[in-house]
Amino acid sequence: MKNIGYAAGSATTPLDLHVFETREMRDHDVLIDILFCGICHSDLHMVKNEWRNTIYPIVPGHEIVGRVSKIGSDATSFKEGDLVAVGCIIGSCASCSSCQKDLEQYCEKGFTLTFNTKDPISGSMNYGGFARQIVVEDKYVLKVPVKFQEKDLAAVAPLLCAGITTYSPLRNWKVSAGSKVGIVGLGGLGHLAVKLAHAMGAHVTVFTTSQDKVEEAKKLGADEVVYSKDPKAMSAHKNTLDFLLSCVSFPYDLNPFLDLLTLDGTMCLVGLPASPHPSLRADLLINKRRRVAGSLIGGIKETQELLEFCAEHNILAEIELISIDMVNEAFERMLKSDVKYRFVIDMKSLQ
Ligand SMILES: [Zn+2]
Ligand SMILES: [Zn+2]
Repeated sequence: MKNIGYAAGSATTPLDLHVFETREMRDHDVLIDILFCGICHSDLHMVKNEWRNTIYPIVPGHEIVGRVSKIGSDATSFKEGDLVAVGCIIGSCASCSSCQKDLEQYCEKGFTLTFNTKDPISGSMNYGGFARQIVVEDKYVLKVPVKFQEKDLAAVAPLLCAGITTYSPLRNWKVSAGSKVGIVGLGGLGHLAVKLAHAMGAHVTVFTTSQDKVEEAKKLGADEVVYSKDPKAMSAHKNTLDFLLSCVSFPYDLNPFLDLLTLDGTMCLVGLPASPHPSLRADLLINKRRRVAGSLIGGIKETQELLEFCAEHNILAEIELISIDMVNEAFERMLKSDVKYRFVIDMKSLQ
C-alpha cells in the first residue's frame, strides 16, 4: 500500500518528502496512523550511514505513538481507535532462549529493527515512524496506558527508545528505594534515567560537563549534581555509588567514574560511541570487585511495563515538538546537543 513520509536518499542529502510502499497487512498485523514520532540519535547515525549498513532511501523513526486504524483478522488484542506505540523492535525469531525469556533485543538470530530492515516474509523494506502509517505484527505493538492524557502523547513517544534503554538496566541491576545511583550525561537518555531512578526511590547523582545543567537536573529529580570536570567534586563521591548509568554517546575516560563505585558496584553503558572509550584501569576494577557492563534497549514485555510505570508515576519526556519540515534542522541541532531533551515530530504536519 502507498505510504508517505520523510526519507533520506543518501548519506549526504537532507530528508525530504517521499512516497513509498508499505507491505500489505497480514492476519496478525495492526495498521497504525502515526500521531507522534521522537527523534533518537540512532536515527541520525543511520541516516548518515555511520554504522555502514544503511539502505537508501531510509525512513527513520522508532519512537512511535499512534492510533490503530485497521486490524488483521487475528490481531484481536487491538481494536480500531486504540492508542498504541511501537519502539525499536518489530520482529524476532520467537524461539531462541533470549526470545523465550522476553528478551527479544538479544534475539540470537537478531531482532528486526523498525526500519532499515527487510520484512522476513514479503522481503520488502521496513520503513520507520517519520511517516503517515506503519504496519506492525500485533505482538510488537504496545498499548498506551489510558492514564496518559491526549495532551501527553507527544511526550510519551521518547519512552519507546530513550525510556526503555534506561529503564531496563535500572531494573536489571535492581535499583530501588535507598539505592545510590549515578547518571552520567543529561541528554535524551539521561534526563529520563534521572526521572526513572528518582521514581524508583533511588538517591540520584547526575554527572554533567555543562555547569548550566545543575538547576535543570535538580528539577528533573536529581538529589545531587556533580560537575564531572572538577576532580575535587568527583573525589568527594569516591566509593559511594551502587550503580552508574552512562548515557554518553561519545568516547570519554571512564576511570574517574569507576572510582566512584562501591564494592561490587556496576557501571553500565547505554550510550554507543562511534569509537572506543579510552582503556580501563584494571586496578580500579580489581580493588573493589567493580564491573563494567552494557545494556541494549529492552524487550516488548518490559517496554509495556515501562509504559505502565511511567503512567503511574507521571513520567514523561521533556520534549520540543516540531513539524516534520524541521527535521533536518533538528538533526543539525542534535549534533550540537542543542535540544531539551528530545525532539518529537507532530505527524499532523506531514502533508
Ligand atoms: Zn533510539
Ligand atoms: Zn530469538
